[in-house]
Amino acid sequence: MATDPFAVAKEYFYRYAAPLELEKRYPRRDILEHLTTPDRSIEFRLTFQRDDDSNCVCQAYRVQFNDDRGPYKGGIRFHPVVDLAETKALAFWMYLKTAVVEIPFGGAKGGVAVDYQSLSLPEKERLTKRYAVVLLNDIGSQKDIPAPDVNTSEREMGWILDVWRMIHGLYDRAVVTGKPISIGGSQGRREATGRGVVITVAEAAKELGLRLDQASAAVQGFGNVGSVAASLLQQCGVQVRAVSDVGGGVMNEKGLDIPRLVEHVKSGQGVSSFPGGQAISREAVLSAKVDILVPAALEHAIMAENAPAIQATLIAEGANGPVGPDAMDILNEKGVTIIPDILCNAGGVTVSYFEWVQNRQEFYWPLERVNAELEQVMLRAYHAVSDLARREKVTLREAAYRIAITRVAEAAARRGVQ
Ligand code: GLU
Repeated sequence: MATDPFAVAKEYFYRYAAPLELEKRYPRRDILEHLTTPDRSIEFRLTFQRDDDSNCVCQAYRVQFNDDRGPYKGGIRFHPVVDLAETKALAFWMYLKTAVVEIPFGGAKGGVAVDYQSLSLPEKERLTKRYAVVLLNDIGSQKDIPAPDVNTSEREMGWILDVWRMIHGLYDRAVVTGKPISIGGSQGRREATGRGVVITVAEAAKELGLRLDQASAAVQGFGNVGSVAASLLQQCGVQVRAVSDVGGGVMNEKGLDIPRLVEHVKSGQGVSSFPGGQAISREAVLSAKVDILVPAALEHAIMAENAPAIQATLIAEGANGPVGPDAMDILNEKGVTIIPDILCNAGGVTVSYFEWVQNRQEFYWPLERVNAELEQVMLRAYHAVSDLARREKVTLREAAYRIAITRVAEAAARRGVQ
């Protein structure tokens, strides 16, 4: 099996699309090629000025994969391992994700290969603004709408909005989502991905006969997604026993005090130095003896080598592509239920959609409304996927792919000759 993330993503797509017989349904459209080839990949040199007046040159990307169902949509990540293949894979999953939850967007993703966390605040701002300036004619509220992803947050979205306004002279807030609330962000956007993860976990647990108030969990990654998922799981009565971040892990058999752990991390420290548990390795968090595992960091965290050690019976993919190629088959054979990324973590882009709607109307919703609408979207998507999985005796991932592919193929065909 290939290891290039985009090649892997395509292999799975072909596998799940095969029973849909798209070429028969849409003859002479070259539909499979259409659905697996990015519309456009933008790769560019990004130079920004360091504080000591030297220049730093990085590779930067924006992949606009598919807009058959609506404008391109997807996050921007700043991370040393970003490359074109990864960005393509992430953009590919984005258009499938927006189709699973049926929001009117396509899929895109962007990134810069840079050790962003080591930069000073002014360097971060210069880099982000330079990235936005280069892409100024490629993004837009009706074209391609960026959002936060790994190492980016509302701060970076605020900077991009500022660039847009300076150069176009327009206060077009809907050009990015995940902005600070003070300049048009949505209530609940920051927590939305983690909240969506927990909504799907609660539904899957019901179907599996697993009582959340008697269940335990481990969370890999304690960024925006992992920390919110851990807090909300604990609020549902789940004992969160193990958590990891880039620097290591922490474990407490009786359950970690998540609000205290959040405070500890906010003060700039890693989870492993948290006094409310014992330090363990990152690997040990993945194989902890728990019912629920939430991988919420980067792709391919679970591979053929570490999959056999996993003890959880339910995996909720908070990250994009955390379960690598061969690991999927190993876990499926073990009978582990996996809530796939394109469903599980779609809460973020769903509230991004709500933010875009609010910006276009300049009418802002209270948090209760955002959360209620999010729950409705996630429940509808979850049950469509789980009903199909049961009916067709396939995994939740395969069912989610079939639903997404069917919707996008139909939209592509309806647009006529392209
Ligand atoms: N980066 C997030 C994702 O992977 C959110 C994208 C968005 O809100 O557009 O789903």
